[in-house]
Amino acid sequence: MPLRSKLPDTGTTIFTVMSALAQKHGAINLSQGFPNFDPDPRLRAMVTAAMEASHNQYAPMQGLPELREVLAQKILHLYGCQVSPEHEITITAGGTQAIFTAVGAVIQPGDEALVFDPSYDCYAPSVRVFGGIPKAIPLHGPDFRIDWAFVEKNINAKTRLIFINTPHNPLGRAFTEQDIRSLERIVAAHDLYVVSDEVYEHIIFDGLQHQSMLKSEVLSKKSFAIYSFGKLVHATGWKVGYCVAPAELMMEFRKIHQFNVFAVNRPMQHALAEYLGNAATYSGLSAFFEKKRDYFTEQMSDTGFHFLPCEGSYFVLADYSALSDLDDMTFAQTLTSQGGVATIPLSPFYANPIKGQRIVRFCFAKTDETLAKAAELLKGVQRVE
Ligand code: GLN
Repeated sequence: MPLRSKLPDTGTTIFTVMSALAQKHGAINLSQGFPNFDPDPRLRAMVTAAMEASHNQYAPMQGLPELREVLAQKILHLYGCQVSPEHEITITAGGTQAIFTAVGAVIQPGDEALVFDPSYDCYAPSVRVFGGIPKAIPLHGPDFRIDWAFVEKNINAKTRLIFINTPHNPLGRAFTEQDIRSLERIVAAHDLYVVSDEVYEHIIFDGLQHQSMLKSEVLSKKSFAIYSFGKLVHATGWKVGYCVAPAELMMEFRKIHQFNVFAVNRPMQHALAEYLGNAATYSGLSAFFEKKRDYFTEQMSDTGFHFLPCEGSYFVLADYSALSDLDDMTFAQTLTSQGGVATIPLSPFYANPIKGQRIVRFCFAKTDETLAKAAELLKGVQRVE
């Protein structure tokens, strides 16, 4: 008897597909989101030192206490929120695992979860694996703003959870204070839980402030807030992140975490605790990536791509209607094989893709040299067919 799939309509993630295609064709990879430069040499030396100091066996299941202590201080300093390092922070094997585990802690078979359309690709499948039903809430218009009245219309007795992602991947949009107030009202009125993907908390532009769930009295009590060291220190390959949630929720989170991951890489946790004790190590991150966004879009100004606003994350969307009538998947594949630059099509982020939408996502977490080279290649692209 063939195995009955829990995810019959799910294939391999678009990030894996496009990175493999980039490699196959030797294209510049602006698809999957990762920096092509290394973490601070000081941090790398701290990892080596931790290994040399024999920190090579299991870390505590919840994460290294020193690291959780540093994070509690960071959260208090940034968001004015007092969290218990002992009971309310867990170190995870990256943001994706934290999201999966948080969904597992909340979703019972038949429960509904609100997922904005488009969204990062792991939310809806996580819900399905646990027997829940993702409900797609379309984001309207060219600016992808949230219609909160419409969100509320989609809530029923089965709705348990809402996914929030700010700054948003792939849209590059960030929550406003007004969004937070609307979310507070809905969460309180309907007793919802929040899985809040805040992995780009430190990559936000043009003077905007990150609107964390942890800043809100109402939302911090109902949220699993999820973060990524990969984004914070340019080390996505380390796969280390963390989840912050009230003790009662974290207890359920850890019941699952302990039998799935158990504990996360110990030497990295020692190094991160030491490195992040100094806030100066990450306070310049927004400015650093804002410069890259501006450099890349400036270099690209003579191409047929029309950029959409990018308020945060290290991704920017571009409309390619002037260059091609192809659908976004075919366009991205052709651009990789013939144009020498890999991007991510937008449609895989949709439950209900929009017909005729011609948008791809560029990752600009690359050296200026790589960004300039990609722009140079794309200037030569007149038409993609
Ligand atoms: N977050 C990365 C992106 O959006 C991809 C991570 C992954 O490949 N799982 O490109």
